[in-house]
Amino acid sequence: MNENRLSHDALLRARAVQVIPGGMWGHQNAARLPAVYPQYFSRAQGCRLWDADGREYIDFMCAWGPMVLGYNDPDVEAAAATQRRLGDGLNGPTERLVELAELVVDTVLHADWAMFQKNGTDATTLCVVIARAATAKRKILVAEGAYHGAIPWCNPYPLGSTPEDRLHVLKFDYNDVASLETAATRAGDDLAGVIVSAFKHDFGKAHVLPTADFARAVRLLCDRAGAAMIVDDVRAGFRLHMGGSWEAVGVRPDLSAWSKAIANGRALAMVAGNDRFRAAAAEVFTTGSFWTAAVPMAAAIATIRKLKATGAIAHMRAMGQRLRDGLDRQASTHGLALRQSGPPQMPVVLFEDDADKAKGWLFCTEALKRGVFMHAAHTMFLSAAHGEADIDRALEATDAAMAVVARAYG
Ligand code: PMP
Repeated sequence: MNENRLSHDALLRARAVQVIPGGMWGHQNAARLPAVYPQYFSRAQGCRLWDADGREYIDFMCAWGPMVLGYNDPDVEAAAATQRRLGDGLNGPTERLVELAELVVDTVLHADWAMFQKNGTDATTLCVVIARAATAKRKILVAEGAYHGAIPWCNPYPLGSTPEDRLHVLKFDYNDVASLETAATRAGDDLAGVIVSAFKHDFGKAHVLPTADFARAVRLLCDRAGAAMIVDDVRAGFRLHMGGSWEAVGVRPDLSAWSKAIANGRALAMVAGNDRFRAAAAEVFTTGSFWTAAVPMAAAIATIRKLKATGAIAHMRAMGQRLRDGLDRQASTHGLALRQSGPPQMPVVLFEDDADKAKGWLFCTEALKRGVFMHAAHTMFLSAAHGEADIDRALEATDAAMAVVARAYG
């Protein structure tokens, strides 16, 4: 690219600030990233994506989770195209709704029923609504630092929310049974539910899997209080276990919230629940203009079937482990101390002694310049489309990136 000419990305950003407040909103605002990161993308295929200036990246963000089988997966796209010819948003749902709910009940082990929405926030919020409707109680226990959406009851950035919006939300520390019990005591006889992430994947922090003791304590507490146990599987759903992420700790929730990966990038979310919460789920008024759209449901059916048929989770885990092992080897060669955590297919890579993430962002910036798209603070994602050759190619870039970090900080 001619460095004297403005990039297409820069031109788009300049146009955007005129007509979009701040140029971009939320977590995908590139202003939250180092300057070399692009804001705009033009296309994607498999595990690769191209920015608006045509630069190609091996992608370890997977559209922040939704891409699980690969961008433009042929089977998912064929199912979506067939449905698109028939119809998408109609006066009511199509047969796909029933087929998808049947497939979910067959797949998600705690589920006796399913309902569908658009975004993860729709799903987490509906879980809370159903919990309150079923119990006629108000308090919801939420882990400190956990993300369940950007809406007043749970938005981590409170600007524009009121304290009253969170009046019935009480905090505890993930994996800390004593703090959970303290929060439950504060809720008294007004406990409607406890919501927990699939694992502790707080922004900028090492990721931590739930302990079996903690998981059992959440279940027991909810059973004793008659409250709803809710797993927020929006980020991890269908990447850790097809039956639901807490199958790994042997604990089944009453309600679970899903979105990101369930339709390989099409807009869809869901709440799955058990029979105890069926009546309340049937009674609450919940809806959205696009919640019955058939194309995302056709995509979800194809996605779930393919994930199951191909053993995609084991593959993602293996590719994540290959990346993790490679990064560990490189770190020791370059004399750097890494702290890799999370399930291998949903990694976060932190450097030791890097509270301000300066090393992490230098590493990611240097990897990006060499065609690898990573994040220094957020969960990253592997997909079924990442093959050994992609991981090895990415590791060539990360080796060079680590050399730069070692020169700067070694
Ligand atoms: N819960 C979790 C665990 C999430 O990771 C997210 C999205 N990052 C949400 C809820 C909210 O989903 P959405 O952005 O689709 O509303």
